Formats: sequence, C-alpha cells, structure tokens
Amino acid sequence: MLTATPMSSLTDARIVVTGGSRGIGLGIAEVLVAAGGRVLIAGRDVDALRVAADHLAPFGRHSIRTCRADVSDASSCTELAKAAAAELGGVDVLCCNAGIFPSAPLINMTEADLDRVLRVNFYGTVFCVQAFQQILAASGRGRIVITSSITGPITGYPGWAHYGASKAAQLGFMRTAAIELAASGTTINAVLPGNVATEGLTDLGADYLATMAASVPLGRLGTPADIGHAVAFLASEEAGYITGQTLVVDGGQTLPESLDALGREQNA
Ligand code: NAP
Repeated sequence: MLTATPMSSLTDARIVVTGGSRGIGLGIAEVLVAAGGRVLIAGRDVDALRVAADHLAPFGRHSIRTCRADVSDASSCTELAKAAAAELGGVDVLCCNAGIFPSAPLINMTEADLDRVLRVNFYGTVFCVQAFQQILAASGRGRIVITSSITGPITGYPGWAHYGASKAAQLGFMRTAAIELAASGTTINAVLPGNVATEGLTDLGADYLATMAASVPLGRLGTPADIGHAVAFLASEEAGYITGQTLVVDGGQTLPESLDALGREQNA
C-alpha cells in the first residue's frame, strides 16, 4: 500500500547539509528546501552561509538555518550536531557533502596534501556520522546521504590520487556503517557525481570544463540540482529499504569504453 505521496515525505523533514554554502551542497539544499524541508546549512565561511541562506529562502516555506562548522575537526562536528538538533528540534536527514579537491600529482604530493584531503573528505564524513548517530536514531527514520564521486570509486584522474582515495574510503566506511546504523532505522547511502559545474570545478579552468563536458554522453556537465534530486530520493521515506548503496549521477560519463565509443552513436 502507498503510504505517502511520492517525495511528500520530505515536507517538514529536519535536514542538515554540510558544505551547503555553495556548489553541490547548495544545489542539494535548494531541492530539499523546495521539497518542504527545514534545512540547516553548514560550512566554515559565515558570510558565505548567510548569502546562501538568503538565496535559499524563496525556495521554501521555512527559514533557513546556518551553522559554522569545520568537518575536519571532530569537536566542531559534535557542536554542529548539538546546534542542529536544538535549532531544528531534532534531525532526520544528514547530507555529508563538504569536500575539497586540490590537485597534487604523485611526484610532488606531500604528506600534508594527503592529510588535508583525507581529513576533510574522509574523516569529515566519519566525524559527522558519529556526531549525528544518536540524534538520527531518535528520529526513527534517519537518513544519511554522502556525496562521494565517480573519481576514486570508479575512475581515476591525474592529480587526484589522494582525492580519489578519500572518495573510495567514504564508500568502504559506508558499507559497515550501514549495518551498524540499521538497528536504529537509519539508512546511509552515497551519490557519486560525475563532473558538476560548481564554483570549485570552475576554479580548474575553462579547458578542463570543456574537455569534461565533451566526455559526457548526455553532452553537458551536471548541475548541482541534478545531484540534489538524487539526494532527495535517498533522503525520502520512499527510499527506506535502501542502505549501503551507491547512485551514480554522471550523465553517462563512466559508460564509454573508449574515446572512440563516444563518437560512434551517430553512426550506430
Ligand atoms: P565547492 O563548490 O568547492 O563547495 C565546497 C563546499 O564545502 C563549500 O560550501 C565549502 O564551504 C564546504 N567546505 C569545504 N571544506 C570544509 C570543511 N573543512 N568544513 C566544512 N565545510 C567545508 O565544491 P563542490 O564542487 O560543490 O563539491 C562538493 C562535494 O561534491 C565534495 O564532497 C566533492 O568531493 C563532491 N564532488 C564534486 C564534484 C564536482 O564536479 N564539482 C564531482 C564529484 C564529487 P567553506 O569553504 O566555507 O567551508
């Protein structure tokens, strides 16, 4: 029996999005706010959070909450969880999205480069899940959605060996966390975006963006909202029997077996 109108289950859901001040996180927040969620966005730059909250407000009917947090710091994640639970009256959905992708070719990758990327992307995910675990359990329908990547779990790209490792590590963590969290009714899943046109990606330059768009069968880079819609599904009540799984959102970017395969569909 259908117990909820599709996706209506996000109405009034209490939601936290880390890295929600820009890029994919802002796109996730937009979709979840528009679905009727009560959303708190977190990041390190307080001014950017305020600008993002002003941007988000017209999409929904609840005021947008913000909280300064650095996910690479476990105590900051604990404070974020406490503040979010107090502001929203509990938390139903945690989107572990905050991440960084500085380039460092192997030949000159330093220990500090490796520490920094793993600390934000991997430890940051673990710290947030731990900090919110009991708060999500109290919800009885907790949902965690991790923003991983195709880079690492499926593909590779020169300069991002440490980044790819951090994104694959999120998935290894997720699969055991899913079993541990299941007893409390919390699910944990991951979206794997391809190349999404965000501020962070724009920093990599016009040539990079053009080359990447040309490698996508659907002919364009992803938008933050493309990722937001996938996250909304995994955060919904309707996805309650899915846990420990990954959803690739890449316009088909990981499908072609060769560069040649991309040009062949016209002649097939
Ligand atoms: P972005 O535009 O650079 O935005 C990153 C967001 O994360 C910002 O809100 C930033 O805010 C926040 N952040 C960074 N470090 C943080 C920290 N230590 N603590 C808390 N917040 C932090 O990046 P994006 O492209 O949207 O990427 C978002 C996520 O998607 C990342 O996990 C990334 O790996 C993943 N992803 C991106 C792409 C893509 O093509 N763009 C593809 C696959 C996966 P502050 O700087 O103010 O903290």
